[in-house]
This record gives sequence, structure tokens and C-alpha cells, in this order.
Amino acid sequence: MRPNAGHLALARWACAAELTVITQNVDDLHERAGSAVDAHLHGSLFAPRCSVCGHPADGLVSAATAEPAERVEPPACTACGGPIRPGVVWFGEELPRDAWATAVSAADDCDLMVVVGTSAVVYPAAELPLRAARSGATVVEINPEQTGLSDAVHHVCRDTAAHALPALVDAVCGPGSPAG
Ligand SMILES: [Zn+2]
Repeated sequence: MRPNAGHLALARWACAAELTVITQNVDDLHERAGSAVDAHLHGSLFAPRCSVCGHPADGLVSAATAEPAERVEPPACTACGGPIRPGVVWFGEELPRDAWATAVSAADDCDLMVVVGTSAVVYPAAELPLRAARSGATVVEINPEQTGLSDAVHHVCRDTAAHALPALVDAVCGPGSPAG
């Protein structure tokens, strides 16, 4: 997977506006496109942590290099010895507290929220656009499909992020170099 035109456009937008990037994706495509991600709401594949004490385990991402057929014992936490797990949020788990606090304060303070390519049905993340609207922000949805959010936003753009975001950022910042 490589960053698409949508990821790259978002990184370009940050040059012209104070941008807070909140993502439910657990990949690092935004970072690779050049965005600073303020909150990974569902965690990150690239931020493994201890399953017991939560201590981050940087540098262990590529630790599991054994034969695929072998059962790999998780590395041990340097703080408590507990097994290290991927830093993603499973169904039913709480969102990372810092990421959620960042997202909520951005939703409450923003002038514009652009909701891109999410089905907007997974709570509590789905609550963020509604918070932003209540706080007076303009809310725009970019999604090729109708979502549970569509009726509650100010503007709807029925298109993919890879098409709509570059057009939007071109309009705001001037045309950028074509990227894909
Ligand atoms: Zn630990």
C-alpha cells in the first residue's frame, strides 16, 4: 500500500491551514504522505505496546521474523515482562485516551470538519462530527456512499477521497503537482 492522492492532498493542505488529522486507520499512510497525525483513534500497527501495563514497545515492529508456520512468542515488555501486542484497538476495546481527548478538543474548537471515507457508524468516533456541528463548525462529508452521517452534515461530496481531496485542496491552496 502507498499513500493515494487523497493522503497527499491532505498533507499539502496543512501548509495553508491549521489542520488536525484524526484517523481511524491503523496504517501509516498519512505519515508517509507527509501529514502529522494528531490522533490515531483506533491505534496504530506501528505502535506495539505491552498487553499488561500498556508500556510502549518501540523498535519491536519487525521482531516477529520467524517462519510463518511457527508460532511466534510475543516479545516481553521491558517494564513488566508482559507479552507485547499490536497497538491497535480491537472491537469492544476503549479508544486510546490521549487520541480521544485530542479528537474531542479538535471537534469542539474547529471551524470546519471534513469527514472522509468513514461509514460514521462506529461509536464513539461517529460522535465527533455531531460535536463539531453543535459547536458551530461547518461539517463536510466526502464519501462515495450515503452514510448515517449524511443527513446531519452541511455539505456532502459523493466522491472518493482520492478524487475529492485533491480538488478541494487545489481550490484552497492553488493547484499542486499531480500525484498518485
Ligand atoms: Zn508491561
